[in-house]
Parts: sequence; C-alpha cells; structure tokens
Amino acid sequence: MYQADTGRYEQMVYNRVGDSGLKLSAIGLGFWNNFGSVDALAKQKKIVHQAFDLGITYFDLANNYGPEPGSAEENFGRLMASDLRPYRDELIIASKAGYAMWPGPYGNWGSRKSIIASADQSLKRTGLDYFDIFYSHRPDPETNVEETALALDQLVRAGKALYVGLSNYSATQTATMAKIFKDLHTPYIIHQPRYNLFNRQAENGLFDELRRERKGAVTFSSLSQGLLTDKYLNGIAADSRAKKATVPFLGVNQVEQTLTTVKRLNAVAEHRGQSLAQMALAWNLRQPAVACVLVGASRPEQLVNNVAALEHLDFSEADLQAIDQILDE
Ligand code: NDP
Repeated sequence: MYQADTGRYEQMVYNRVGDSGLKLSAIGLGFWNNFGSVDALAKQKKIVHQAFDLGITYFDLANNYGPEPGSAEENFGRLMASDLRPYRDELIIASKAGYAMWPGPYGNWGSRKSIIASADQSLKRTGLDYFDIFYSHRPDPETNVEETALALDQLVRAGKALYVGLSNYSATQTATMAKIFKDLHTPYIIHQPRYNLFNRQAENGLFDELRRERKGAVTFSSLSQGLLTDKYLNGIAADSRAKKATVPFLGVNQVEQTLTTVKRLNAVAEHRGQSLAQMALAWNLRQPAVACVLVGASRPEQLVNNVAALEHLDFSEADLQAIDQILDE
C-alpha cells in the first residue's frame, strides 16, 4: 500500500492562481503522454508516486490523453482507486474537453452537448465525483462562445467541477469569455497556454489579459516536449519521445533543427549551475501570471531533476539578455 512521503510539502512552492483562493504546486504533472494503454502501469505508478512525494499536487488530464484516447484517464482512475484515494483532498485533478474524442458531430469542439457528455465520460473513466478544474481545451470557431461558457458554468453548478479554465484561447477570445464568466459568477480562474523558450506567443497579449483580470496561468509543453532538456545533446535515444512511434508530435527533424540553439542554452544553464530543464522551468515561472508549469515525465528521476528548478528561480539581467540573444539568432 502506497504511503506518501511525510516530507512532501517541505520542498515544493505553492503559487496562488490569480486572485482566487486556489494555490497550485509550481510544478504540475501532465498526462498527455507516458500514461496511456501503451505504457506499463507499474511505471506510471512510480512516476505518480514520485510526483506526489515531491509535493506535486496538480495532475493534468484531458479526455483524449493516451494513446489510446481515454486511456490516461482510465489509468489515472486505477491509480486513484489503488493508491491515491486517501489523498483526494490533497490533489488538484484537472481534465478538458474540446479535441476529437468520439465519432460523430458531438465528440469534439465546444457545444454544450459535447462538453457535458465529455465531462461525464471523464468522471466515469477516472472514477472521480468531480474535477477540481475543468477546461475548454480549445476555442470552437462554430459555436457561440456563450454556449461553451454556459456549459462550463453548468458543470460547476452540477458539482462536477470546482473551477473552470480555458486552454489555447487567444488574448481576445479569453477576454470575451472572462466577461461572460464574470456575468455568470462562474469560478473561472486559469488559462493553460503553450509557453516555453521556443514559443513565446503568450507574451503577445495573453499574459497581460490574465494579469488585468487577475487570473493565473499553467503552462504546457514547458520543456518543448523534451527539446529544452539535456536529453538530445548527445544523440537521440531509442526510448525518447522523438523516436517513439506512438507519439507523432515530436520528430528527429525538430531535434536536429534546434540542437545548436539548445547547446547554447545549455551553456547558460550550466553557468547558472542548473540543468537546461531546470532553467527552462524557472524561466517560465518568472512570468508573474504563471502559477504552475506542467511537465511530462517518462521516468521518476526526471521529476526529481525538474523540481530542483525551484532552488534557483532568479534570473540576472545578464542571464535574460544572454537567453534572448540566443533565441533571436
Ligand atoms: P514537456 O514539454 O514537459 O516535455 C516532456 C518530456 O520531456 C518528457 O516526456 C521527457 O521526454 C522530457 N523530460 C522531462 N523532464 C526531463 C528532464 N528533467 N530531463 C530530460 N528530459 C526530460 O511535455 P508535454 O508537451 O507533454 O507537456 C506537458 C503537459 O502539458 C502534458 O502532459 C499535458 O498535460 C499538457 N499539455 C496540454 C496541452 C493543451 O492543449 N492544453 C497540449 C500539450 C500538453 P521523454 O519522454 O523523451 O523521456
């Protein structure tokens, strides 16, 4: 029987999400990859135990995470039932709806039909009574924004979610949704954008919008799927994400194209006395709106390395300039 480390709250930093009452662990664990039906459950268990033992309380799911879609939630449900149930009130468990999940016109996007049916399916797969945060995974260009907002609001009213969030919405779309949520008194508190050293789009208005509205951010692909770590510096290991046939989103080409820049960033990280992954996470956390940075992990040791980023979060002006210069070239 799993017993959580009694020292789990000693090392972690917990950041408030905007002006809400909720705090998130500065590092969160993402379940997009490594937790599907293609991955060994025993390994998943070790990663999740390591995460919680390190004080990671935020676990990020979505209906379609796997592969196969749905299997990450099913596996999480298994771990919940066998190990994590006594700790339910110490965890923030999030899920999302908005990407293709089941066939036909209702298994995708942001209609009321789709969001509510999807949330019900996710609750069933995970065996949970409610999600702590439920997100609209992406904006739906064909559905009136009010409909999507009302569907999220209803999840809260029905006791299926405590807070709601948005993901992949532009700054303007976020502002429109924020106004609707405000009128409805929906506990909308958080946005989940992609943000990392290679993708700074959230700096073009989204972070300003979140600050204006006193909302928080949790960033995804904070390590650019592993590119912003030392793992590809000396070649591409067979078990890395770039080589995995089950993960089509990162390929050898991207590794090769970024390698020179990654080596230079790695030198800055070394100069700071950190691993590149640690510097990349600290760099995300320097944004005032960012309460939590998500990381994927294929083994427990990666989480140990990533959480040690919290030991050195400060950046000198010289460090920031050196990083900007490398990224601008
Ligand atoms: P990251 O950018 O966090 O990269 C994760 C990968 O980096 C790992 O699988 C591992 O690669 C490698 N890695 C992690 N830590 C280390 C380390 N210390 N040293 C060396 N390598 C390391 O991942 P994701 O793109 O998966 O994003 C994280 C989470 O964000 C997802 O799981 C999901 O929850 C969320 N997300 C949300 C999206 C949205 O639309 N809202 C979209 C995408 C992600 P390897 O497996 O090769 O060992």
